Amino acid sequence: MTVQDKIIHYTTEESIRLAVAVTKGITEKARQCHRLAPVACAALGRTMTGALLLARDYKNREGVSIVIRGDGPLGTIHVDSFDTNKVRGFVEYPQIKLPLKADGKLDVGTAVGKGTLQVTRFTPRQDTYTSRAELVSGEIAEDLAYYLYTSEQIPSTVSLGVLVARDFTVAAAGGFLVQALPGAREEDLARVEKNVQDIGPVTSYLQEDPQGERLAEKIFAGLHFRELFRQEAKWQCTCSLQRMKRALLSLRAQDKELLLQDPQVEMTCRYCGTAYVLTRKELATLYGTTKKEG
Ligand SMILES: [Zn+2]
Repeated sequence: MTVQDKIIHYTTEESIRLAVAVTKGITEKARQCHRLAPVACAALGRTMTGALLLARDYKNREGVSIVIRGDGPLGTIHVDSFDTNKVRGFVEYPQIKLPLKADGKLDVGTAVGKGTLQVTRFTPRQDTYTSRAELVSGEIAEDLAYYLYTSEQIPSTVSLGVLVARDFTVAAAGGFLVQALPGAREEDLARVEKNVQDIGPVTSYLQEDPQGERLAEKIFAGLHFRELFRQEAKWQCTCSLQRMKRALLSLRAQDKELLLQDPQVEMTCRYCGTAYVLTRKELATLYGTTKKEG
């Protein structure tokens, strides 16, 4: 059975919102593009899932970039989600290996280390808003919840998970975000919190329900909820040959001269690993054109 990557948004009559994301395909795609070792795969998959969950919250913002700067061996994690349902990302050191934790889980917390989580939101009017918070555990879900509470004053429960199979492929990935809107009652929130605890780790849950379709019933058991909308979620990059050419045109004159001495110039997109190559002749043409225009 094929698992469909998606984001589903729900609301309750009791002023509680829920976003569910299934990201198995996206995380597997990232793993293949960046040749991610398991712990890097888990860290990037969780961050990408988190970005998709934040991308279209109840304030209807459009895009979200997350940068996690930790002092652990994984280095920095960069993730962009845009058009509300597309995501891309990379980690600085994708091939690091760490021993599993005592409970047999991947040690994302140690891989990430201590540092900060930065979120930039891009609104439909192209305004941007950047804010950051200290990392709590480096496990990402807790860090995002802490960020949402301290920087955006939204009490949230975040659960994110990536299950890596023995052959290192992604067996399950996804997560959810519960947010209390103004007016939500303590007793309803307590009920949801209890339901969330009963569900346990989201990766274990997704093995039973890979499409995540029954997650809302479980989280909102005892409340009145309805689906607001759903979208397919996709791994996608924004790089192109055109963008690479613009970057080459923006270089200083002496750097352009240096590049023209090489038989070809190759630029690799950090977000997706795509390599763009221009021969010396193509590069000379590119630069020659600008001289005429300038
Ligand atoms: Zn790219």
